[in-house]
Amino acid sequence: MKPEEFYQALAAKGIELSDTQKKQFEIYFHELVETNKVMNLTTIIEEDQVYLKHFYDSLVLDFVDEKLLTEELTLCDVGSGAGFPSIPLKIVNPKLKITIVDSLNKRIKFLDGLVNKLGLDDVTLVHGRAEEVGKNKLYREQFDIVTARAVAALNILTELCLPLSKVDGTFIAMKSEKAPEELEHATYSIQVLGGKVSDQKSFELPNNEGIRNFIFIDKVKNTPGKYPRKPGTPAKKPLV
Ligand code: SAM
Repeated sequence: MKPEEFYQALAAKGIELSDTQKKQFEIYFHELVETNKVMNLTTIIEEDQVYLKHFYDSLVLDFVDEKLLTEELTLCDVGSGAGFPSIPLKIVNPKLKITIVDSLNKRIKFLDGLVNKLGLDDVTLVHGRAEEVGKNKLYREQFDIVTARAVAALNILTELCLPLSKVDGTFIAMKSEKAPEELEHATYSIQVLGGKVSDQKSFELPNNEGIRNFIFIDKVKNTPGKYPRKPGTPAKKPLV
């Protein structure tokens, strides 16, 4: 997907990018590829692949949940890596207030430089493990939306993400074809952590690049204080 095709594909979904926003994606691509020469950020570096598999793929969230496009929501992106999905979402809707949590400080430093170059406001970068950040009252149960793409299996991810969602907020897990299987194994953890599956949506990426599945988990009650457990425990002993 060349940049022009990216703009057209978004326009077909009702998202008309301004020249400033197009330039921001250009800068993002440039920074990602240049920094990747000295720091491992992504294996996807071809322009048409970055536009499709990182930028467009992140923005599919806007197609499945339109309030992300227009509303002034607080959003926490857990394990954002080089900024996906939250930085593309923020470029498209500058009103979003985003917080990015990642345990690798070099990625947080990359994002710090990127956010400055893109001139984005209301972006908070947190270096830390979600297990610890989810215990910190500055972040615990503070967000309207929590997202995670390519971070962990759903039964682990729920323990990293649901503690950050406010009651009445939503954790949206971005998953591949294996979503139904992952959901089956996460039923218990979702319930224990105060969540309830409210919706599931699928979206087919262009150029036969596969299916994206979105699992919407509403936070219906507070997460018990003992969760998240200490760093590493959710992955070693997922709640089942
Ligand atoms: N979401 C990005 C994407 O889709 O391209 C990055 C995915 S990358 C495979 C996973 C990221 O999650 C890494 O940057 C890693 O440092 C971070 N991560 C993994 N476990 C984490 C945890 N417990 N807390 C915070 N970040 C974590």
